[in-house]
Amino acid sequence: MSYKDMCYRCNGTGRYRWFAQGQVADGMCFACMGRGHKVFKTSPEERAKNRAKAQAKRDAQRAEREASRVESAYRGHLTLYLYSLARASREALKPPRSPAPVGRVEVAGTVISTRVVEHWNYGTQYKALVEDDRGFRVWGNLPYLMHDAKKGDRVSFRARFTRSDDDEFFAFWQRAHPLTWNGYEV
Ligand SMILES: [Zn+2]
Repeated sequence: MSYKDMCYRCNGTGRYRWFAQGQVADGMCFACMGRGHKVFKTSPEERAKNRAKAQAKRDAQRAEREASRVESAYRGHLTLYLYSLARASREALKPPRSPAPVGRVEVAGTVISTRVVEHWNYGTQYKALVEDDRGFRVWGNLPYLMHDAKKGDRVSFRARFTRSDDDEFFAFWQRAHPLTWNGYEV
């Protein structure tokens, strides 16, 4: 079965009029090749349905392209954002370095790492590497009252410091007296 539809372009006349150079021109309708109608193998409803389906598919593809464009732009922004965070925290954690102290002074900084050492004579020792806010690092036994300080904790204490022979930004401490631990007096 085939369907005969009136030509939408020429309204079934088979002829088409257009304006050219200020004059009305007239000629054969090219949409229907002058016949005034077109013959289809499918019903108008089916064709409308197919057109709608094709349009829906195009819309879906466009939405998908748009979503992936937005996502990659977002990912780009996220990457930049993470980079800026990392840079900011690096700058916050690494102020201009100043040489490690010598003698009995106070330090205040962040615990970088900890280690528990069993000593045959002194018993269990809780050691820590601390980065002072001024940029140098110090290593020694944590005072007993803050012996379970963890990486990332903020500590301040007074101790006797001996600077490393081969690194002026590193010192060892002895006989630490606790001052503050994560903002609380110890
Ligand atoms: Zn026509």
